[in-house]
Amino acid sequence: MEYMPYLQRYVNHIVYDIIRYFLFAGIPFLIFYVLFKSPLFRFKIQPKFPEWKHIKREVLFSMSSMAIFTTVGTGVFWMHRHGYTKIYSDMNEYSIAYFFFSIVLFIVVHDAYFYWSHRLMHHKKIYPHVHLIHHKSINPTPWAVFSFHPLEAITQVLILPIMVVSVPLHPLAIFTWGIYQLLLNVGGHLGFELFHSGFTKRIATKWHNTSTHHNMHHKYVNCNYSLYFNVWDRIMGTNHVRYDEEFETVCERRQQLSLKKENENAELPNEATTV
Ligand SMILES: [Zn+2]
Ligand SMILES: [Zn+2]
Repeated sequence: MEYMPYLQRYVNHIVYDIIRYFLFAGIPFLIFYVLFKSPLFRFKIQPKFPEWKHIKREVLFSMSSMAIFTTVGTGVFWMHRHGYTKIYSDMNEYSIAYFFFSIVLFIVVHDAYFYWSHRLMHHKKIYPHVHLIHHKSINPTPWAVFSFHPLEAITQVLILPIMVVSVPLHPLAIFTWGIYQLLLNVGGHLGFELFHSGFTKRIATKWHNTSTHHNMHHKYVNCNYSLYFNVWDRIMGTNHVRYDEEFETVCERRQQLSLKKENENAELPNEATTV
């Protein structure tokens, strides 16, 4: 077997994964936790900021997960070269409508895969040995996106080989899914809620998860297991009973802090004129 193409692929892939991680987790971290920490504080879900030792752990475990993702990604490359996958590189092989459909399908299947594999991770015999690593972040930051035990990292990335052997996928569709899952995952671990009051109750939006939803999963553990959509949690009755209530509390606190700030700003010129 010729090793060079695989070694080259591994190196390229891990460099890409690390750069992507540091951009997608690092930029929101820089904005929300460093540069605009105080003006954006009103969006914070849990009022406390995590200690550096937690952030360090989140980064280290995410790096280890990326080494595993890259190993599986290189395995998928080997499978593709040996004709074991349905990956197609000629866009004309399937219609453009199919291309977009395949991305949506990937996302929907991954959402179901994540929900059920996540429930498995919470099994009392598995949780303390594997998934506990991810739950050491009670107040997560974007760096926690891939903070997994190696066995959990393997479980999570298995969706890729499953999909490429089952469904025809263009590399660009895989790439798009990769960006989408990272963006949404960073959103779930952001620690800040950007959606407005009523989001979890309105018929048009309640099917989509919020940052508060996954933040509550880290805080309360045995609830809110879903990834992108608030569908499996609703079907299985695993949303936290106070999900809507807590989401509204976060929005209300934001509103109060904004009003307080406005009042402070309005008082300043008056004080200045009376001096
Ligand atoms: Zn969990
Ligand atoms: Zn998480």
